[in-house]
Amino acid sequence: MTTPLPGQMMDVPLTVSSLLAHASRHFGTTEIVSKRVEGDVHRYTYRDCEKRAKQLAQGLIALGVEAGDRIGTLAWNGYRHLEIYYGTTGFGAVCHTINPRLFPEQIVYIVNHADDRYVMFDTTFAALVDALAPKCPNVRGWIALADDARLPRMTTPVMGYEALVRAEDGDFDWPLLDERLASYLCYTSGTTGNPKGALYSHRSTVLHAYAVSLPNASGLSARDCALPVVPMFHVNAWGIPHAAPLTGAKLVLPGKDLDGKSLYELMEAEHVTYSAGVPTVWLGLLNYMRETGLRLTSLKRTVIGGSACPPAMLSTFRDDYGVEAIHGWGMTEMSPLGTVARLNGEQAQRSPDEQRSLLEKQGHVIYGVDMKIVGNDGRELPWDGVAFGELYVRGPWIIDGYFRSDVSPLVDGWFPTGDVATIDRDGFMRITDRSKDLIKSGGEWISSIEIENQAVAHPAVAEAACIACAHPDWKERPLLVVVKRADAEVTREELLGFYQDKVARWWIPDDVVFVDELPHTATGKLNKLVLRERFRDHILPSACKVVN
Ligand code: AMP
Repeated sequence: MTTPLPGQMMDVPLTVSSLLAHASRHFGTTEIVSKRVEGDVHRYTYRDCEKRAKQLAQGLIALGVEAGDRIGTLAWNGYRHLEIYYGTTGFGAVCHTINPRLFPEQIVYIVNHADDRYVMFDTTFAALVDALAPKCPNVRGWIALADDARLPRMTTPVMGYEALVRAEDGDFDWPLLDERLASYLCYTSGTTGNPKGALYSHRSTVLHAYAVSLPNASGLSARDCALPVVPMFHVNAWGIPHAAPLTGAKLVLPGKDLDGKSLYELMEAEHVTYSAGVPTVWLGLLNYMRETGLRLTSLKRTVIGGSACPPAMLSTFRDDYGVEAIHGWGMTEMSPLGTVARLNGEQAQRSPDEQRSLLEKQGHVIYGVDMKIVGNDGRELPWDGVAFGELYVRGPWIIDGYFRSDVSPLVDGWFPTGDVATIDRDGFMRITDRSKDLIKSGGEWISSIEIENQAVAHPAVAEAACIACAHPDWKERPLLVVVKRADAEVTREELLGFYQDKVARWWIPDDVVFVDELPHTATGKLNKLVLRERFRDHILPSACKVVN
């Protein structure tokens, strides 16, 4: 028997710092543009960014931060946040991004669970930090992302970020770290129970950045200008802060103002070609363009995910504005990207209807991720586009355990996502629901996402949520909760009639309720838990027995 033959290639670790070092050396003059909380627009280059990230690393080391220590962030998308991404992970510390939209008690839990050494925060979160600090005794210091002259008035003693950075010279070599060491810590913001931490490694972060950049995914290149609307505190802005330096794309960081007007103006001013975000923010941008009659002149592609993108939104981008809107799916536990709806050559030759129906799904896996759907008996279901079951995934940027938890979430080496899906013959996956959001009517499942997608296709509907409502005969029946477009009118009967011939008759909601606003989670998803609670005692007309 011959002995296995080792390859003779350099064993260069895949470190996060190598991404910024690459951009600094080979795309040194490419710009990073940030809308700051100070109110102005800041610009500098990848070379400047690396220098300051190194100064930050030196500053943190001088403060006694060691490899493995967690450094929390409460910050918008901006150049200082980017410097923290690299200035912490670059010497082996762990960058722990915290979602400031969570309830303060959840943030306290997260900071203490992560055992953060320091927390760096945008000055907009000064009051939040004052509320958190007394409950986070292990945090050694709170660092405001500001000049000393602009430090906010607070009860908590704080340090200034600029002073920390300016005290150092940036003469620092990124150490060659073991690629399996931890890089980032992101907590999932579940609506129930305590948040759980996904701890990425350098290797998983770099591999994910490669995969995200591929033409079948974002297709980012040095000719692109990328604006992540998805926050850097939500699963690392879907990897764009890593994919942009990897490809040499210009980076535009929008700060705290994510309304339609602010986004539109920034995209136009900076000639943004690529973006990514959740449907809710795109709703704001599309509404703004509809009201003003303005058009985007440079945007070519945008990835929409985080929750199901209504087909009507995909077609508005494509048909009305000439923007390729790409539906994607993933989750915090997956770094996050898993699937992207983009066609291969043969699929692009099919009829427009067939193409559309593929593009409306959550899509095909990107290399590195494998997926399957599993029935109640644990057996794999066929890829026929009809059978639906829980979606399982595996791959090198998918967690195999939660931070500081001994209980493995894996089943036979696969991660159960909690999403329910179909997979068709083309390998296109379609999310039917979160398993807890499915509606079970008379023992049969109804997809709430499908009902919502149909509702927002109605011209008078801005946003819709479909939830299960108790029913004496069917156990559960669908209730549709709708936000109307400003100045548009539609009645309950018209909306219910709109479903005729679009879904199976028994899928048509039993009632419609109009509201001014729908509740969203800290990551922009519909908060169905709150809705179910609010409509717990709602009596469906179909549930009232007629007594003569
Ligand atoms: P998070 O970990 O906060 O990013 O949330 C991940 C979850 O968001 C997934 O498990 C899905 O339930 C949901 N999700 C993400 N993208 C999509 C999508 N394109 N369609 C439907 N649900 C999605």
